[in-house]
Amino acid sequence: MSNSITATVAGVPRIGPKRELKKALETYWRDSSTGADLAETARDLARNSAADLVAAGLDSVPTIGRSFYDQMLDTSALLGVLPARVNDVADHEGTGGGDDLPTFIDRYFAAARGTAALPASAMTKWFDTNYHYIVPELSADTRFELDDTAFVADVKELAAGGFPVRPVVIGPLTYLALARTTDDSDALDHLETVTNAYVTLIGDLAAAGVTWIQFDEPWLVTDVASDAGRRDDLLSRTRAAYERLAAAAAEAPGSPELLVQTYFGDGDVAVKTLTGTGVAAIGVDLVTGRTDERRSDTTAIADGDLLPSWTGDELLVAGVVDGRNIWRTDLSAALNTLKALKERGPVAVCTSSSLLHVPYSLAQETSLDDDAELRSWLSFGAEKAAEVALLARTLTGADTDADRAAVKESAEAVASRRGSARTHNEQLRSRTSAVTDADRDRDDYETRVVAQREELGLPPLPTTTIGSFPQTTEIRRARAAHKKGELTDEQYTQAMKDEIADVIRRQEELGLDVLVHGEPERNDMVQYFSEQLEGYHSTDLAWVQSYGSRCVRPPILFGDVTRPTPMTVDWFRVAQELTDKPVKGMLTGPVTMLAWSFVRDDQPLGETADQVALALRDEIDDLVDAGAKIIQVDEPAIRELLPLKAEQQTDYLRWAVGSFRLATSGVAANIQIHTHMCYSEFNELIGTVSDLNADVTSIEAARNGMQVLTALKDSGFHAGVGPGVWDIHSPRVPDRGEVDELLAAALDSVDPRQLWVNPDCGLKTRAWPETTASIEVLVAAAKNARTTV
Ligand code: GLN
Ligand code: ZN
Repeated sequence: MSNSITATVAGVPRIGPKRELKKALETYWRDSSTGADLAETARDLARNSAADLVAAGLDSVPTIGRSFYDQMLDTSALLGVLPARVNDVADHEGTGGGDDLPTFIDRYFAAARGTAALPASAMTKWFDTNYHYIVPELSADTRFELDDTAFVADVKELAAGGFPVRPVVIGPLTYLALARTTDDSDALDHLETVTNAYVTLIGDLAAAGVTWIQFDEPWLVTDVASDAGRRDDLLSRTRAAYERLAAAAAEAPGSPELLVQTYFGDGDVAVKTLTGTGVAAIGVDLVTGRTDERRSDTTAIADGDLLPSWTGDELLVAGVVDGRNIWRTDLSAALNTLKALKERGPVAVCTSSSLLHVPYSLAQETSLDDDAELRSWLSFGAEKAAEVALLARTLTGADTDADRAAVKESAEAVASRRGSARTHNEQLRSRTSAVTDADRDRDDYETRVVAQREELGLPPLPTTTIGSFPQTTEIRRARAAHKKGELTDEQYTQAMKDEIADVIRRQEELGLDVLVHGEPERNDMVQYFSEQLEGYHSTDLAWVQSYGSRCVRPPILFGDVTRPTPMTVDWFRVAQELTDKPVKGMLTGPVTMLAWSFVRDDQPLGETADQVALALRDEIDDLVDAGAKIIQVDEPAIRELLPLKAEQQTDYLRWAVGSFRLATSGVAANIQIHTHMCYSEFNELIGTVSDLNADVTSIEAARNGMQVLTALKDSGFHAGVGPGVWDIHSPRVPDRGEVDELLAAALDSVDPRQLWVNPDCGLKTRAWPETTASIEVLVAAAKNARTTV
């Protein structure tokens, strides 16, 4: 194939190395007359991304053209299926299509963010990552009308600029599998219709001069469907879809080739499904789920242990460079895998997933200036592209002296990381190996209930909040000023103490039963702890897109985790000294600490989670010594890390639950352990929630109409539980009748002795007026409900 690919990445970040897109979007949303700037910024980002990848040595570069928010939403716009409710938004806003923006732009943003009058589309996590996509809303009578003018123009411009661009769209199976329907119909009924639309798209892209087109089908690494019959049906229809698309491509001008890209898991089902359909290349993730030993077992790879379904007839786009974590690639190990595969057929080098999930470039990360060792272990987006290019040169025998030196350097970095005392702390290792099952167990629940009732003396249906109170401008300003050195440590601490005093006074006035200190000192519930733990590094500029214009900076958990000093005890003390009511000690659980960080890949996640758990266990000890009677350990992310395939879920749940229990089981029976869950539905995981063995669990519930109650009732959940009765995601103050009803519903499902009254989640994003007003309603409703039990 003259037109073959040797080196590429599966996808690219879009937000900009300096978050340029974020700034352009926010300006546009504030003042819609700046559309020309937004168009220009997005165009520059797409062009620079292609130029950087070509400069790094790639011979095919993926592009989604100009990016404005989210690629699933792009696909909805492309297929002409933005939700019907936003149809006349552009007419109202008046700028649709002006300023060189796509004609659908204001409808697109209305679907993404809502308007004063219209709700936004749902947003949810992209597979098991922390990226959120906009969920397509379809129904049985959705009409698909391809609207590819903007996309094709963007691609054409890049191709005309001489870039070997490969336009990327979400494949029909994945797009529909992730859609929701408003009428309970099966979104996948539209598979053939979407395929037809893509036939037209392929013709238009071919006319724009591209030689490759990529369809992303990560759904193929999941179970596809839980029912075997449906799974087989979907796979055979997917196969038929790609036969059609490949035939269309073959007939289109210049006959572009198709690449079907998978990621986040084993690609063998994809290979099996697509072999012989006429697609030229299949992209697979060769990082996820593969251990070091298996990576270097080249004989087994050559013999077909890896990707047994690959016949060598299609180009294998081999994702050997981790696209979603930040570790420097072991180039020799990757080369071994590639060489072994090459014995079986044609191979191109690629990342295991889009680089969307990692920061742009190590070069701009100032926080590593003083830590050359850690820096030498890492590779961000730009470095990964260079690794791919180097591997491809080496594989084809075109490597340079510099490349050979780089392979050696990578081996040294791998050895340095493996041998460092920072990744292997002997003292901690002997502690973890001494952990027994008894360390994960407490007195039985009945004993604890009696001891805690005695200790706390709470009324029935106790009221509490989830932890944070409004992060006001003053709080954020004080933190920024402290960081810049404009506030001394003493001044900053005093400002936070004043805030805590204010929050305690307000809670007492509101009549809450169990108080919190309000978390004013925490920038983020994970970063706050990562900054204080050894083995963790927090970054300055290593942003990754979380959704739309929002970015996060996940800290890097690179080594053995230990706690040099107490992390929360002083703040707890300040709060508890001001009140006779119990104040909750507030911690982030081990699974959530892992889920929202870049985590070391050189040992099983469960071992890392246990290290974090031991640090938390010590913190809990110290909190109890300081007088805490209730400790809350938040695990909002426990659902997120759940593996995509059912067969791997049991093992995950075992270590996830185990680490929570290790963190929380060191306390006496009279100490009450709380936990908190949100962001997902936990109906199917109630058994797991119960296994955590917490005394009280608060769960987000108001937003989805208290569906969790049925699950609680059916499972016979016996511990304390606070299904949220106030949806804190909007500023709306719930009315009394509403909360009364939710409490009555809760009392229908759980014993009054179990029920707690609390909001859905923390209040840091809320303002004080609605916070006070809502808590007043909540407390009054709880007091009223007490008279009925
Ligand atoms: N304690 C945290 C808070 O209230 C919990 C946040 C969360 O669940 N995401 O902010
Ligand atoms: Zn929450």
